[in-house]
Amino acid sequence: MRKAIFPGSFDPFTLGHLDVVTSALRIFDEVIIAIGYNSAKKGFFNLENRIRIIEASVAPLRAAGHQIRICQYNGLTIDLCEREGVYTLIRGLRTTADFEQETIIAQANKKLNPDVETVFIPASQRSSFLSSTVVRDVLLHHGDTSIFVAPGINLEDYR
Ligand code: ADP
Repeated sequence: MRKAIFPGSFDPFTLGHLDVVTSALRIFDEVIIAIGYNSAKKGFFNLENRIRIIEASVAPLRAAGHQIRICQYNGLTIDLCEREGVYTLIRGLRTTADFEQETIIAQANKKLNPDVETVFIPASQRSSFLSSTVVRDVLLHHGDTSIFVAPGINLEDYR
């Protein structure tokens, strides 16, 4: 069974993240969405709500029979790989800036553990502009975030 870990802050999980997971499930039998959460750096949504948003976002994929697991971790992603016994990481790419930053992270991870491979998935056309930061800003200013997240999600329910 081919498994991969999709690590991120997911603060919150957006339509862009969902598109990455959907694409990854064409390649992998199971995708583990791993929330890098450090309780000292709280972020915007708490851990429980980040998980609830992801659960609701991926519910249709699960209903279609896809294997998706959600977990939380602190510390290095390569240590999570060791714990899970899964050495493939998925990261999404929107821009050349993402490419540069993600390549550096992928190379650092490989230096730390040569078994770890990173697979880049390009952003979908509909969400290539989208980041959790944009969604948080729109939410803070009472804008409509429904177009930026998975269908049926109302972020106000998770604050
Ligand atoms: P991190 O803090 O680890 O960057 P994020 O939750 O912001 O966590 O992003 C997790 C991953 O999802 C990163 O690889 C990021 O580049 C990717 N990503 C974020 N938004 C999008 C999007 N709209 N389309 C494709 N990939 C995305």
